[in-house]
Amino acid sequence: MSLADPQAYRLWRRACRFPDSPAQPRMRLFRVVLATAVVAPLALLAQPGRGNAGTQIKPGEQCPPGMTEVRPRNCQAPTMPAPSIVDYRPRNTLKVAEHKVPKAKFPAIDYHGHPTNQLSSAEGLESLRADLDAIGVKVMVTANNTSGENLKRALEVIKASPTMKDRVRILTGINFANVGPGWAARAVAQLEADIAAGAVGVGEIGKGLGLSTKKADGSRLRIDDPELDPVWQAAARLRIPVFIHTADPQEFWQAIDNSNERWLELALFPGRRYGDDFPSFETLMQERDNMLRRNPKTTFVIAHLGWHANDLGRLGKMFDEMPNLHAEVGAVLYDIGRQPRAAHDFFVKYQDRILFGKDSFQPVEYPYYWRVFETRDDYFDYYRDYHAFWKLYGIDLPDAVLKKVYYGNAVRITPGIPQAGWPR
Ligand SMILES: [Zn+2]
Repeated sequence: MSLADPQAYRLWRRACRFPDSPAQPRMRLFRVVLATAVVAPLALLAQPGRGNAGTQIKPGEQCPPGMTEVRPRNCQAPTMPAPSIVDYRPRNTLKVAEHKVPKAKFPAIDYHGHPTNQLSSAEGLESLRADLDAIGVKVMVTANNTSGENLKRALEVIKASPTMKDRVRILTGINFANVGPGWAARAVAQLEADIAAGAVGVGEIGKGLGLSTKKADGSRLRIDDPELDPVWQAAARLRIPVFIHTADPQEFWQAIDNSNERWLELALFPGRRYGDDFPSFETLMQERDNMLRRNPKTTFVIAHLGWHANDLGRLGKMFDEMPNLHAEVGAVLYDIGRQPRAAHDFFVKYQDRILFGKDSFQPVEYPYYWRVFETRDDYFDYYRDYHAFWKLYGIDLPDAVLKKVYYGNAVRITPGIPQAGWPR
C-alpha cells in the first residue's frame, strides 16, 4: 500500500476519527515515523498479537510498518490510532531564551530577489521600499531575467525614484532557446546591450538549463555545452557576476516513500519529483562543475548553496578548487539551521564566498534567516513545514562574517551595486 494512497487515507480517517487539532500552528515535529501515519492504523486493525506483546526483529532490521522500537530489537504498535504527520502538532514545552530578529543587524543585500510586479510603477516601488525597510534589506538584486525593453522600463521606474534609485539592481537574462549555429553571437550582443542599459549581472539562470531546455537540434542542452562558453567569457570580460540555479534538492530524485526527507513536499506537489526521463541529480552537478571549472575568469554565484547545504563538505571542496565560485543561501535555511556548529564553522571558513539571498519574496520569512545567522537560539520553528519537519538553531555568526554575508561579498563581486555607504 502506498502512503499516498488516497483510499487508504480515507479508510484511516473513517476508522480513527482523529479529532480536529488544537490551534498550534507552528509546532509541528513530525517525529512520528511516516509509516505510523497512515499504515499503522490499518496494520493495527489487521495484526493479531499487537500491543504489549511486541514483535522481535533481528539486528539491522527495521520495525514493521506501524511499529516503533521500544526496547532493543523489540517493536510495538501504539495502542491508539497515530496522527498523520500533517496533523501531529505537539506543544513545545522547552523553555529557553528567545531572540527574535525582525530586522537584520547590518544592512543586507538580497541577491536572490523576486519582487512580483513592484518594479512596474512608482507605487509598487514604494511598497517594496516599505517592505525592505521593515526587515533591514537595503538593496534588492532582482533575479527575474529582465532583458531588453522590459529591463529598460524597469530601470526607468527605479531611476525616477529618489528613495529607491540606489536600492534596487537588476540582473538580466540569457535566452537559452535554440542554442546552435549563431546563437552565441546573438546572446552575447543582447548581454552587452543589457549591461550597457544598466543591468548589473546575469540571473537567475533557471534550473531549466540542464533539466529541460533543448538545443536547436532537439537534444538536451547540457550545462557544460561548449556552445555556451562565449556567454560565460563575455560575463568575465564585462566584469559581471553570473547567478545560476541548477537542479533541485536531491530528494526530489528519490522515491516518494517513508524514508524521503521531503515526503510531505513531494506529496503536496508530486510534480516536483524527477523521474527517469530527467537527467540525474549527479549528472546535473557534474555538468555544472565542468562549466564552472572551464570558465575560471567568470564570477559565478550558485543559488541555494548549490543544493549542497546538506553536504557542506562537498561545497567546501568546490570553494577550495574554484576561486571564482560563490554561493547564495536562499531557501536552504532548513539545512543551515539544523547543523548550527558545522554551519557556523563553514560560514567562518568561507566567509568571503557566501551571499545572502532569499528567493521567494515573503517579507515575514526574512526574520527566520536573521535569527539563524545572528543568534544562538535553540530549537525554534522554521517557516515552512513541508521543507523541514525539524527545528532550527542559531549559528551565531560574528559581526565581521555577518557583514560579508549580508553585503560585503555582494558589493565586492558586483561593481554595479552602490559601492559606498556600507558599514565598515
Ligand atoms: Zn530564484
